[in-house]
Amino acid sequence: MFVVMAVDATEAEILGVKSQILAEGMTPFEHAGAERTVIAVVGEIGARKPVLMGRLGGLSGVETVTPISRPFKLTSREFHPEPTVIRVLDAAIGDGSLAMMAGPCSIESRDQLFETADFVAEHGATALRGGAFKPRTSPYSFQGLGVEALRYLAEARDRTGLPVITEVMEPNQVDIVAEYADILQIGTRNMQNYSLLTAVGRIARPVMLKRGYGATVEEWLMAAEYIVSSGNPNVILCERGIRTFETYTRNTLDLAAVPLLRHLTHLPVVVDPSHATGKRWLVPPLALGGVAVGADGIMVEVHPRPDEALSDGEQSLTLAMYAELADGVVKVHEQVASLAAEAAPGPALALAAGRH
Ligand code: PEP
Ligand code: MN
Repeated sequence: MFVVMAVDATEAEILGVKSQILAEGMTPFEHAGAERTVIAVVGEIGARKPVLMGRLGGLSGVETVTPISRPFKLTSREFHPEPTVIRVLDAAIGDGSLAMMAGPCSIESRDQLFETADFVAEHGATALRGGAFKPRTSPYSFQGLGVEALRYLAEARDRTGLPVITEVMEPNQVDIVAEYADILQIGTRNMQNYSLLTAVGRIARPVMLKRGYGATVEEWLMAAEYIVSSGNPNVILCERGIRTFETYTRNTLDLAAVPLLRHLTHLPVVVDPSHATGKRWLVPPLALGGVAVGADGIMVEVHPRPDEALSDGEQSLTLAMYAELADGVVKVHEQVASLAAEAAPGPALALAAGRH
């Protein structure tokens, strides 16, 4: 449930509500909206709900107490109607602009990273990706350069000015990864690693949570809820395909999830067509599709010589393909934005245009 404070509620009244929530054994989460403050009440409420609603509703400065119908609370649109905008260095994600995250699957050497970073920075990228700790299906595959790669990533940020994003695989890696990276990525295999979610919930860096390859949208939002309820509101969701019976593609990209998430949550959504398809030539059309259905950004793997890549070469774009795609996504994004700006598009187009 959440408590909607009156427009003219005082600080003391807000504090009074929060103290009462704590006294009931729950945790208050305050959200200062444009007009008024709302306070979410999270915890195991159970059968006490009607009594608690009555008690909080009677406090001074409270306008109404509203139940949140979804199991995810802090990440729901009901509690937080405005979109969450995540700012990192000069980039913003979720503000209506298009985020373009690009870079190699794995950081293989300083030269390979810098060559890619310089190129994508010149061609519209807003963030540089690169894996340092790699979750590989086979223990015999390249596992990443670890901390050495984190150092290259930080050097690449200084060189290009782009914020950098990289995966963290374990709770005990969170501090070291957060020391070098601007955004921490949780990979598909770890979406329900609750101790890792709680650990990234305690840091001050934004987190990009990839969808588990076997996860429903609701399970994914519940995973995001772990991060937000642990204290980190800056979560980006990344749709990267789910496993279905189809074998021509590595995964099946669930594009419907993008407008669906826009409806259910205020968190920004990025689409990764590289891991979704596993095939380089399928990446551009699905990146365009992701932007067309209203994604806040795209993440793609890029390698100067994909045939020599130590991981995911088949799905990595060449530099030339990346440059062409970067132009294309900007054009589609402009079209989507102009639909939104045209006099009152009806409800049929509102979601595609990124409006709730
Ligand atoms: C990645 O982006 O490097 C990655 C491993 O992706 P996923 O977790 O989606 O497979
Ligand atoms: Mn990869």
